[in-house]
Amino acid sequence: MYFLCAVFRRRFAFGESYSSAADSVIAEVGPGVMHNTEMNTSLGADAPRAAARTETSRDERQADVVAALTAVLPRAAILCRHEDTAPYECDALTAYRASPLAVVLPETETQVAAALKICHRMRVPVIARGAGTGLSGGATPHHGGVVLSLAKFNRILKIDAGTCTAVVQCGVRNLAISEAAAPYGLYYAPDPSSQIACTIGGNVAENSGGVHCLKYGLTLHNVLRVRGFMVDGEPVEFGSEALDAAGLDLISVVVGSEGMLAVTTEVTVKLTPKPQLARCIMASFDDIESAGAAVASVIAHGIIPAGLELMDKAMTAAVEAFVHADYDLGAAAILLCESDGTPEEVAEEIARMEEVLGAAGASRIEVSRDEAQRLKFWSGRKNAFPASGLMPPDAGNAFLRPLQNFRRCASSRLTSIRDAPAALRTCSIRAISSATSSGVPSLSHRRMAAASRS
Ligand SMILES: Cc1cc2nc3c(=O)[nH]c(=O)nc-3n(C[C@H](O)[C@H](O)[C@H](O)COP(=O)(O)OP(=O)(O)OC[C@H]3O[C@@H](n4cnc5c(N)ncnc54)[C@H](O)[C@@H]3O)c2cc1C
Repeated sequence: MYFLCAVFRRRFAFGESYSSAADSVIAEVGPGVMHNTEMNTSLGADAPRAAARTETSRDERQADVVAALTAVLPRAAILCRHEDTAPYECDALTAYRASPLAVVLPETETQVAAALKICHRMRVPVIARGAGTGLSGGATPHHGGVVLSLAKFNRILKIDAGTCTAVVQCGVRNLAISEAAAPYGLYYAPDPSSQIACTIGGNVAENSGGVHCLKYGLTLHNVLRVRGFMVDGEPVEFGSEALDAAGLDLISVVVGSEGMLAVTTEVTVKLTPKPQLARCIMASFDDIESAGAAVASVIAHGIIPAGLELMDKAMTAAVEAFVHADYDLGAAAILLCESDGTPEEVAEEIARMEEVLGAAGASRIEVSRDEAQRLKFWSGRKNAFPASGLMPPDAGNAFLRPLQNFRRCASSRLTSIRDAPAALRTCSIRAISSATSSGVPSLSHRRMAAASRS
């Protein structure tokens, strides 16, 4: 479904103007980079000439768009040479790639509005981009469009310890908010595993969660106000600095809208007091069903853990080699279950959790003795993505089977969406095939592995 969502998202992003713009651009420039091979095959002997024509009209379109953008943005804020735009060709869903006409890196809201107005007028699709860590292809460029990178909106504007809030620009990294709030004994609770890199603008677009969201909520529950611009460059604001605002509460419409309703430029987030203590239980199970049932049992006993995550055997083996957290490699599944609060609350809750997990069939239970060990327990969950990048190619077989099942399932769904344009159907099937046929860690997996290690 993720792949399908990504495909349809590409089609309908930015509503009416996106789809109509996309259509007009496609009509004007012909099939782009992603479809050239297909086109060459179907056109036979005329293929080289047709391809050359396509390239020429794309070059012309690019020149027009860049010229218009140069009129409102500093030249250094526009990238259009292939070697400059190549890093923006995909997000963490590397099965999809497209080369945009240009990447713009505005520094002010005025520049964002101006760039959007130009693109809107020229009917050019715009894809907003934070850090590009998204796994659903949301930041994949359109071959006839412009990528709007918000990387330069990286300032924390205000931390108010009195109201436990922070006002930050959209390109601020998730973890940077907690780091800035730490001197006040506060932190920003939603903690996607990509928090070292992902931006609050991306978190808002994806309604991102993390291991602590069971108790502390998703991005939606931790954001008070979102400010930004509509696709035509008009300013817009959702929510307010206060807990309540007059009129309709539209914040839940924009949070999770995958960048399709507005380009976020500024966000007011809630900050949470840091708990005095946190401890984590690592419980082993002999089969994955018992581990799943243990999760239900913990909740049924009225316990809301500060964090609750399950890792299966294949992933535990992959991350253990990477983080050396002393995971139980013999277990079919490992459950990480965290408690936080005052020392008394934690002691009582950990004892209850141990009891429930034991009764649910845990074969081994270990409680973190200190903060270093607690972080070690979580390091596997946090590093699952880069760890898989270090796996040898043949180890991909362990992941290939579920992916093949996914492909079968996805293909049968594809046959039922007859209304989807042929190009989109081919595109998604190709992406699924390339994701499943290689079984080899992608370059971005390896890059993240290297970054995590250093
Ligand atoms: C290793 C790894 C671990 C992850 N763990 C988690 C996890 O635990 N939980 C979770 O929920 N996700 C997780 N993710 C997914 C991803 O990190 C999140 O979705 C994150 O919020 C994306 O932020 P980003 O800044 O990278 O956004 P991008 O990938 O750049 O963009 C994501 C979407 O947001 C839109 N967007 C970005 N910035 C803006 C803006 N300013 N205005 C409007 N739209 C915008 C883009 O158009 C796109 O649709 C993980 C990803 C990786 C690679």
